[in-house]
Amino acid sequence: MALHEGTHAGDDKRGLSVNPFYGEADPVTGMTTAPPRHALPDGPTAPHAAYQLVRDELMLDGNSRLNLATFVTTWMEPQADVLMAECRDKNMIDKDEYPRTAELEQRCVAMLADLWHAPDPTAAVGCSTTGSSEACMLAGLALKRRWSRANADRYPASARPNLVMGANVQVCWEKFCAFWEVEARQVPMRGDRFHLDGESAAALCDENTIGVVAVLGSTFDGSYEPVAEICAALDDLQERTGLDIPVHVDGASGAMIAPFLDRDLVWDFRLPRVASVNTSGHKYGLVYPGVGWALWRDKQALPEELVFHVDYLGGDMPTFALNFSRPGAQVAAQYYTFLRLGREGYRAVQQTTRDVARSLADRIGALGDFRLLTYGDELPVFAFTTADGVTDFDVFDVSRRMRERGWLLPAYTFPPDRDDLSVLRIVCRNGFSHDLSDLFMGDLERLLPELRAQGGPLGSRAGEDTSFHH
Ligand SMILES: *Cc1c(COP(=O)(O)O)cnc(C)c1O
Repeated sequence: MALHEGTHAGDDKRGLSVNPFYGEADPVTGMTTAPPRHALPDGPTAPHAAYQLVRDELMLDGNSRLNLATFVTTWMEPQADVLMAECRDKNMIDKDEYPRTAELEQRCVAMLADLWHAPDPTAAVGCSTTGSSEACMLAGLALKRRWSRANADRYPASARPNLVMGANVQVCWEKFCAFWEVEARQVPMRGDRFHLDGESAAALCDENTIGVVAVLGSTFDGSYEPVAEICAALDDLQERTGLDIPVHVDGASGAMIAPFLDRDLVWDFRLPRVASVNTSGHKYGLVYPGVGWALWRDKQALPEELVFHVDYLGGDMPTFALNFSRPGAQVAAQYYTFLRLGREGYRAVQQTTRDVARSLADRIGALGDFRLLTYGDELPVFAFTTADGVTDFDVFDVSRRMRERGWLLPAYTFPPDRDDLSVLRIVCRNGFSHDLSDLFMGDLERLLPELRAQGGPLGSRAGEDTSFHH
C-alpha cells in the first residue's frame, strides 16, 4: 500500500469531468459539476454519475486474469460472488451478532487442522486473518512470547531475540522483525541453492533464536523448502546443545497445494517441531482477497496472554488478531469453497494448475532462449532466466515487451548472494488455463525474433525490478 503524501500543487486545477449523459434525467446538470479530485466535494453527485466516474477511472487498471505475477485468486464462481455480496455487511469480530459466521470460521480451522495433520485436531487452535502477512505477525509474536517467557531472566535486559530464515522469505518476515524488534537472521542464497536448508538454518541458531521460518514454497522461484530436513537439523542441534527451537511453516501458497498433490511430503504438524502454520485463503485456498489462516499445534504453542476475549452468545470467545473489525464475507467464501470442492475437488483444481505450469515451463525451456531455474512441479510457479550466451536482450526487456500484449510478467533480481541473477517468474493459478497459456506462448514466440535482433539489453530502466513481483 502506498503511503500517500498529499498532492503536488497544480495537480488538481481541473475537477473530474462529468459526461453530460451521466446525469440522471437532465444532461445539463452533468456539465455543471466538476468534483475535485483531492478534496471532499462540497455537494453530492448523482449515483449514476458517481458510479460511472469511478468505473471509468478503474478501466485503466490491468486485467487481473492476465496478471502472471500475483498469487492471489482472480476468479471465483458466480455463487461465491452472490454469497460474498450477501455477507459484506457482517463484521467478523461481532461473534455475538453473527454467531453462524463465527461457527463457519471455527469449522474452517478444524478442517485445516485435520488437513495439516494436527496430532489432535480438536486441540489445535487457529484463526482467520486478513492474509498470510497478519497470520505471520501472529505466529511470530507467539514465538517471541514463548522465547521471552523462557528467558525472562535475560530479556529484556540484555538478550536480543532473533528469527532464522532464508534470504528468500516474503517481505512480511522482514516487517515482522522490524515492527517487533527481532533480529532477522537470513541465510543467503548460494550457487544453485535458492532457499533455506537444514544445515545453514541450524548454524545461525543460538540461545536467542525464537524460531526458524521454513517457507512452503518460496515466492522467488516456487520451490519448497525442505521442512523435514530443517526440523531434523534442529533435532540434531538440540541433542548437541540442548537448544529447543520451534519451526513455523509459512505455507502461504504451499499449504493449500502440498496436501492435495504431494501427500507423501512430510512438512506439517506430523513433524513435532512444527509449532504453527499459516496459509493465504486468498491464494491457493481459492478465495478472493483478503483471508488468511494461522494455526498452532496446541495451546502450549500460543501463549494465553496474547489471546483476547469477546462476547459470544452470552459467553466469551477467544480471539487473536491485529485488526478489530474485519469483513466476514471472505470467511463465508472459504467455507463455501471447502464445501464445494472437498479434497478431491481441490486435488483436481490444483493438479490442473500444476499441469499448466509444467507444460508451460517445458515449452519455454524448449525455446532455447531461456534457462529454467524451477519447473512448476512444486508450487505451480516457475522462474527462468536468459540462457547462457544470450546477450541481445535481458529479462527486463521480456517483461516490458510482454506488457505491451497485456501480460504482467514480473522480472526481478534475486537476493544476496545471488543478486547477480535476474529472473522472470510465472505464477499459474486456477483460471490460467491451457488455452490462455497457449495465447501467452504465441505472444512470446512472436516477440522473440525482435528481441534477438535487439543487439543488447535496452538499458535505462532495464536492470530495475518490476514493482509487481511479490
Ligand atoms: C504471499 C505470501 C505472504 C504474504 O501473504 P498475504 O496473504 O499476501 O498477506 C507471506 N509469505 C509467503 C511465502 C507468501 O507467498
